[in-house]
Amino acid sequence: MNNKIYDLIIIGAGPAGMSAAIYAKRASLEVMIIEAVSPGGKMIKTAEIENWPGLKQTTGPELAFSMFDHINSLAVEYQAGHVSRIEDGEIKKIITDDHQTYLTKSIIIATGTVERKLGIPGEEKFAGKGVSYCAVCDGALFKNKVVTVIGGGNSALEEAIYLAKFASQVNIVIRRDVFRADALVQEDIQNNSKINIILKHIPIEIQGDTVLKNIILENVDTKERQSLMSDGLFPFIGLDPITNFVQDLGITNQQGYINVDANMRTAIPGLYAAGDVIDKGLRQIVTASSDGAIAAQQVIKYLDDNK
Ligand code: NAP
Repeated sequence: MNNKIYDLIIIGAGPAGMSAAIYAKRASLEVMIIEAVSPGGKMIKTAEIENWPGLKQTTGPELAFSMFDHINSLAVEYQAGHVSRIEDGEIKKIITDDHQTYLTKSIIIATGTVERKLGIPGEEKFAGKGVSYCAVCDGALFKNKVVTVIGGGNSALEEAIYLAKFASQVNIVIRRDVFRADALVQEDIQNNSKINIILKHIPIEIQGDTVLKNIILENVDTKERQSLMSDGLFPFIGLDPITNFVQDLGITNQQGYINVDANMRTAIPGLYAAGDVIDKGLRQIVTASSDGAIAAQQVIKYLDDNK
C-alpha cells in the first residue's frame, strides 16, 4: 500500500480527467490520475475532430496527445491501473485489480463509457477477425474491402465516413428509417458514393471461417433474412458507462450513469464525477473538459472547507 494521502485522485484520463488534473495541479493540489487503458479515452479512437474550439480540424489522437503533454508539463502523477473498488471515508481508498490501495481526500470519477456490444452469435468469435469497435485503429486493414457499420448515431456515421477512405464499400445498417446523428453528418453520408444505406434491418448473426465473411440481416418489419457479404463489421450502437466499480455506492441511475448536481458533486461528500460517465444530455470533448474543470474547482473548495 502506498501510504501517501493525495488531495485528489482522478479515475480516468480522458478529456474530463485531464482537464480536472490541469485545474487541480495549477491550484497546487497533490493530484494523481489512474487510467486503465491509455491517456485520451475515446479521443484515441476518434478520427476527425471538427468541433474543438480553436482548431478547425484535428484528429483524436493528436488532441489526446496534446492534452497528455499538457498534464505531463505540469508534472501530474500518472498511474496505470484498473480501479475495482472505492471505499468511502474521511480518507477515501481506491483499490485496483492488482490489489494496490491509494489514499485520497477527494475523488473525481471520469471513466467515460464503453462501446455497447450487439450480443449476437459470432460477435465474440470474430472479434479481431473482422469485428472491430474502433475504425481509427483497424480501418486501414480494410483497404479495398467491404465493411458494414451498424447504427445511425453520430459515432456510426462519422466512423463510416472515415472507413470509406479505405474500403471499397461501406454499408450502414440501421434499425429504423431515420438516423439519430446530426443533420450535417447525415448530409455527408448521402453525398458519399461509397456508402450504401440499409434501412429497417438488424444484424442477427455473424458468419465466416477463420475470418468474418457474411452478416445475416433481418428486416424488422417482415422478418425476412438476407446474407450480406462483408469483410468487416463495426458496431456503433451506443455506449454504456464504466461504473461497475461504484455499483455499491448508490450514486448511479438505472442506466448506470453517475448522478451529479451542476457542480459535479455526487451524493457522497468529496466524491465527484465528470465527463461522459455522468447522467447528462450532451457528450462531447468540450463538455467533458468543462465538467472536469468544474469538478476540480469544487474539489479545491471542498478541501478548503474541510481543512
Ligand atoms: P447513439 O447516439 O446512442 O446512437 C446509437 C445508434 O445505434 C442509434 O442509431 C440506435 O438506433 C442504434 N442502436 C442501438 N442499439 C442497437 C441494436 N441493438 N441494434 C441495432 N442498432 C442499435 O450512440 P453514439 O453514436 O455512440 O453516440 C453516443 C453519444 O456521443 C451521443 O450523445 C452522440 O451525440 C455523442 N457523439 C457525438 C459526436 C460528435 O458530436 N461529433 C461523435 C460521436 C458521438 P435508434 O436510433 O433506433 O435507437
